[in-house]
Amino acid sequence: MISEVTLEKSRQMYEKAKTLIPGGVSSPVRAIKPYPFYTASADGSKIRDLDGNEYIDYCLAYGPAVLGHNHPVIKEAIKQQLDKGWLYGTPTELEVNLAEKVASYYPSIDMLRFVSTGTEATMSALRLARGFTRRNKFIKIEGGFHGAHDAVLVKAGSGATTLGEPDSLGIPADFTKHTLQAPYNDIEIMTGLVEKNRDDLAAVIIEPVLGNIGPVLPLPGYLEELRKLTEENDVLLIFDEVITGFRLAMGGAQEYFGVVPDMTTLGKIVGGGLPIGVFGGKREIMEMIAPSGAVYQAGTFSGSPCSVAAGIAMVDYLKEERVHEKLNSTGDYMRAVLSEIVEDEGLAYNVCGIASMFKIFFGDEPHNYQEVLKCDKEGYLAFFHRMLASGVFLPPSQFETNFISAAHSDEDIEKTLEAYMENL
Ligand code: PMP
Repeated sequence: MISEVTLEKSRQMYEKAKTLIPGGVSSPVRAIKPYPFYTASADGSKIRDLDGNEYIDYCLAYGPAVLGHNHPVIKEAIKQQLDKGWLYGTPTELEVNLAEKVASYYPSIDMLRFVSTGTEATMSALRLARGFTRRNKFIKIEGGFHGAHDAVLVKAGSGATTLGEPDSLGIPADFTKHTLQAPYNDIEIMTGLVEKNRDDLAAVIIEPVLGNIGPVLPLPGYLEELRKLTEENDVLLIFDEVITGFRLAMGGAQEYFGVVPDMTTLGKIVGGGLPIGVFGGKREIMEMIAPSGAVYQAGTFSGSPCSVAAGIAMVDYLKEERVHEKLNSTGDYMRAVLSEIVEDEGLAYNVCGIASMFKIFFGDEPHNYQEVLKCDKEGYLAFFHRMLASGVFLPPSQFETNFISAAHSDEDIEKTLEAYMENL
């Protein structure tokens, strides 16, 4: 574990923070045990803490920083917007421009609405799916994460097809009783659940690649069969691409796998690192949103000018610089070398991932949530701390994805691989 001395300022800040902010953090996953480092600044592939330690960052704010931190092109776009003011409460040309760009990359999106977070995006998409179909139930995937609103905060049940039970105090069971769950990568169980509930089933919502426990990849044909199943049963398919959007490709997982859902949610990258969310879909569905339709949704900060300006700069840069080609080949290289290391060390671990997402599972290759749970969490946490002490910041849990950014140099990658070799 990294020595107490080098993290003393962070430790002190944590003691103070705990008296003011529950758990000392603004979002639970940040509460690294025994205490998190508090960040002072970040540039490119590096993040620096209060004690002056510098780490190569593979957490990347849990995905958004696909170009690395503090990217000059994004910063310039934000600065230019700041000069014109940063909140109007009126529509802007900027949001129309970003809407046009996003729609051009996502075959499922004819129209979209901007919100401020991924949570809002999935909350609104599910309300819209229910309003459009006039049905109540939806199916989510066990271990799939769609933000922190009531309907999706449902524990993965031990039974394969259990009804939802709230995952948090403060959520009445009534609020999640329409949330059904199915295991990832099991089309048979999904088929049974869809057919049994089809009369009151609005949608299936899925992260096409399970990014919040992994990454866990879809088995060949799974997404295609899910598309067919939902279509045949007249149930909407929602791809939650908050992580995969603009990460796997410009058109996200739907472009990467060639499977087109009815609705899509985006977040993270599409705001260039500023708060944003998007939900979009077919025209006939989207036109049911207020004020054109009777499904209500609203937000003071929706389409916030700096987020949208940063998003335009991000999307254009990704496209013009063909960033995904380099990112994905770096991902391939990383996974190949990590697999060799794991094999050479004779470890019963699995290197998993896709494009610029990767992870070592401390266990066998998982295909669903229940299998991921079998991995050695404690062993992973100890490994995380060894990596941190070696100057590499991975997401602090076995259940979070590592991301690569365009700012990671060959030298960063080699240093990181050396650290893996030393610390595994
Ligand atoms: N959906 C997915 C797939 C996510 O990964 C997340 C956040 N990790 C969300 C929704 C919620 O996004 P936000 O944290 O911006 O509310």
